[in-house]
Order: sequence, then C-alpha cells, then structure tokens
Amino acid sequence: MTEPTLVDSHCHLDRLEGAEQPGAVAQYLADARDQGVGHVLCVSIDMGNVHDVLAIARENPGVSASAGIHPNEEPDPETEPDAAALRELALDPVVVAVGETGLDYFRSGEDEDMGWQRDRFRRHIGVAREVGKPLIIHTRAAAEDTLTILREEGAEQCGAVMHCFAEDRDVARRALDMGFYISLAGIVTFRNAAELKEVAKMVPEDRLLVETDAPYLAPVPNRGKPNRPAWVRHTAEHVAELRGTSLEELARTTTANFHRLFPRAEGAAAA
Ligand SMILES: [Zn+2]
Ligand SMILES: [Zn+2]
Repeated sequence: MTEPTLVDSHCHLDRLEGAEQPGAVAQYLADARDQGVGHVLCVSIDMGNVHDVLAIARENPGVSASAGIHPNEEPDPETEPDAAALRELALDPVVVAVGETGLDYFRSGEDEDMGWQRDRFRRHIGVAREVGKPLIIHTRAAAEDTLTILREEGAEQCGAVMHCFAEDRDVARRALDMGFYISLAGIVTFRNAAELKEVAKMVPEDRLLVETDAPYLAPVPNRGKPNRPAWVRHTAEHVAELRGTSLEELARTTTANFHRLFPRAEGAAAA
C-alpha cells in the first residue's frame, strides 16, 4: 500500500512531551513517518528556544525550522530581538520561514497597550521581506489589526500562512485575497467548530495546509492529550471528508502547497 505523504506544517518539536530525553524527538519523527508524515516544520516561539529549534532541524532529516518570537512572549529589553538579530537568524540555511509572529489580544486586558506586539509584528514582516522568506502568522482575538498590519507592511511580497486558523469565512476570504495560505489544525476536528468546518470547505485546493501545532490542540480522537506530529493525519482525514475528497488527494495537494510556499524546505525540488 502506498502511504500518503503528509506535511505537518507547524509543530513545536522541542516542546513535545519528553522531548528533552535523548532520542525522543527522533522517535516522534519515526512515528510520524509511519503515519505518512514526510516533513515537519518546527516553529520557534522565543529567543530562548530558537537555537534548539535550529539544531533539531539540522540534526533530523525531514525537518525544517522557522525563526521568530511569538506575540504571547512578554517583551523583555534584554532579549527582544531587533531587526538585525532577527535577520541573522532568518538567514540561517535551515530556516525556511519567519515566525511565528502576529498578534494575540486574547490574554490581554481590554485597555492594555499592545503597541509592543504590533511593533514586533511589523519588525518580523520587514525581515521576512528583506530575506525573502514567508511568514508564519499567529492571530487570536486580533484579526482586524493582523490583516491591516500585513497589508500596511507589504506582506504579500514575501507570502504568509495563517497558521492554526480559527477565524470565520470572512477573515479567511480576506487573507486568501492577499495571496496567503490557510493552515488548519486539530480544532477543525472538534464537534463545536461549525464555522471552521465551513472554512475548511471554502479554501481553494491550492491554498490549504494542515498542521498539528503540537504539543497543543490534539485532534479528535486524541483531543485533550499532548499532541504529536503523527496526528496531523487525523486532521487531514477529517478535512478530506469535509471537502469530499480522499486522504491521498488531500495529502498530495497540501504537500505540494507546503513546498510551493516554503521552497527552501527539504524535498521541495521533488514537488
Ligand atoms: Zn500560534
Ligand atoms: Zn505554534
């Protein structure tokens, strides 16, 4: 039986349960390969882990990396990367994308000043354009500002994926109109995610990606457990069903999309 070749387009391998144990990451990747997952993009979140992420990508075949600082990381003048620091990381050959970056107003109080998040986001977009690598966008409770800043900073020029998409069809449409990709994570498999299931049906075939965002947000039937890259298959199966297509076809198109958006990822030449 030929296995479908899936890509987990967004995962935090360094944060998986037990990842610090010797051989653990390699085992997670082997388990993922058994489920047809041929490539994993390991995404960085803070300046403390970015070198771990790059090392994981260097040491493991079928893994690429991103460089960036997550909007939920509190600003710290000691560690906040300026454009030059971000650029140096983004230029590393193992880095195929800039992020995850974006806006997350969910945890903030109503009148908290989120200017620092917007500044950081703009800085990431500028660097992505300079180095010519696409953006990985995180947005939560901040869709309007996210789209506005992406437009103002010219993010269409470097491309982007709206990762772990959890907004409505209108936001999806506007992101697609700017040329961006939409990546669906385990949330789409949840029973109460009716609007997101509609999004899953409306994204054009050539703009869709799938991801785990592991160790977070495990898909049904493993909802609530620490997530792992192998389980991107559950999300892909569910999305295929929603779209009335086969897992094989969905794997083929989402993998081709991944390599089109991230041409520096290993295996891109074959896609
Ligand atoms: Zn995120
Ligand atoms: Zn993430």
